[in-house]
Amino acid sequence: MALCLVIPLQAQGATLPLLGDGSDMSASAERRLGDRIIRELYRDPDFVDDPVLTDYVQGVWQPLLASARARGDLTPELDERFAWRIVLGRDRSVNAFALPGGYFGVHLGLLAVVSSRDELASVLGHELSHVTQRHISRLISRSNQQTPWMIGAMILGALAASKNPDAGNAMIVGGQALSAQSQLNFSRDMEREADRIGFGVMTQAGFEALGFVGMFDKLQQASRLNDSGAYPYLRSHPLTTERIADMQSRLPLGASHGADVLPGSTHAMLTARARVLSGAGGDALRGWLAQADDVGLSGQAAAQRAGVLYGAAMAASRMRDVAQARKQFARLQKLALDDPEAVRQVRWLGLEIELAARDLPRPQVLALAGNAGLDLSKPTGVLRRPELVLQAQLAMQAGQSQVLDQVAQNLQGWLLGQPNDALVWQWLASIYAAQNQSLRALRAEAEARVAQLDYAGALDRLKAAQERLRDIGASGSRADHIDASIIDTRRRQIEVLVKEQAQES
Ligand SMILES: [Zn+2]
Repeated sequence: MALCLVIPLQAQGATLPLLGDGSDMSASAERRLGDRIIRELYRDPDFVDDPVLTDYVQGVWQPLLASARARGDLTPELDERFAWRIVLGRDRSVNAFALPGGYFGVHLGLLAVVSSRDELASVLGHELSHVTQRHISRLISRSNQQTPWMIGAMILGALAASKNPDAGNAMIVGGQALSAQSQLNFSRDMEREADRIGFGVMTQAGFEALGFVGMFDKLQQASRLNDSGAYPYLRSHPLTTERIADMQSRLPLGASHGADVLPGSTHAMLTARARVLSGAGGDALRGWLAQADDVGLSGQAAAQRAGVLYGAAMAASRMRDVAQARKQFARLQKLALDDPEAVRQVRWLGLEIELAARDLPRPQVLALAGNAGLDLSKPTGVLRRPELVLQAQLAMQAGQSQVLDQVAQNLQGWLLGQPNDALVWQWLASIYAAQNQSLRALRAEAEARVAQLDYAGALDRLKAAQERLRDIGASGSRADHIDASIIDTRRRQIEVLVKEQAQES
């Protein structure tokens, strides 16, 4: 299911020099290749880290990982060596794929069509299993490409082409990758293995088996409509009769179809969010407003109405139509949503709309944060990532030093546990800049680059920080001296990484 990884596979089995004598690629070699690929994807303009959607995807992903560990599919060695990181792409096409080294890509188009968390879990469980079963290392070992650099370039090229059905293929990449398209995929046996293990992983993680069926139904429908432009994985990844038979044999007795399961309101709102973020042109906004004002809306289930109103309010906000955004949001707020997570999602959207409007006086910004349970002036306990980022934005608008101090502390606390969180480092850099702490701001920017494996970019920031230090000279405070020693240490560490990166290419 889902376009899996595309790798050129030419028949003869000459192996990479790196890999030794025809055995599978080592985990660390595969990770280095994955790092090389993901570094480019982070620079792709379609890369998106929307904290709300990322939080949602992580809510499905982390239980799957825990289940794969408990089942022994994910070994401690692979757990430690691989990244197990999902990267979201703003693309409207329906796609998910596994990359070398435990990186995964998910298009917003997939989030926009799944009818439940269970369906999303079925796709992610399948992709996860390709990696835990080392399918990727087996493919790479069998390919006769000369260098990891070539393989990385081909994977990137194939991804670019799969994303853009109008690009007429070939020219994006160095030639033969795509001419070999029919050979670029996992074998049928690998697909069936990923189906089987992925199904075990998702059900053991507590997701409904029907999610698997619902997703399969969607694929079959798209396949019948020949809709491979919108569903790129269907092109490289046909549904074979064996796979369908396998699926049916796994279903609990008496289970029929998952396709008519109504989404809960949280899911409906997040689906709407993925749709808005994946392609909000002016026409799309009119589409949302037409749905929201349709007389038929009141006859629909509350969850459906929540999704439509959420999408309309968010689309209006992004088109800078503040009045319309507030109007649709007020309607959304009036719906009786009994699920606390849905209530939270609505609250976050309200903050987002007011932040984008930028017309509130400072005391109102602070009151707004307080009402949403995100008090800016005192410790607030454990915050979820979307809340942290909202707090940072609110603090920047409020601009008070006490508030900036508190939010800086909250962000630092988060980063202790999640040092690879580029977005949070970037917000911390903004907060430091607002506090006139230019050295710390530069260092936080450097860490944001490191988190996305851009070591050269990180080094630039650290050098800029050291130049600033020279300007400050002996007049610097004690705090400046502490910062200076941290910056010096990080510079030396990162110089090593830059050298390693240069040697690999
Ligand atoms: Zn697959």
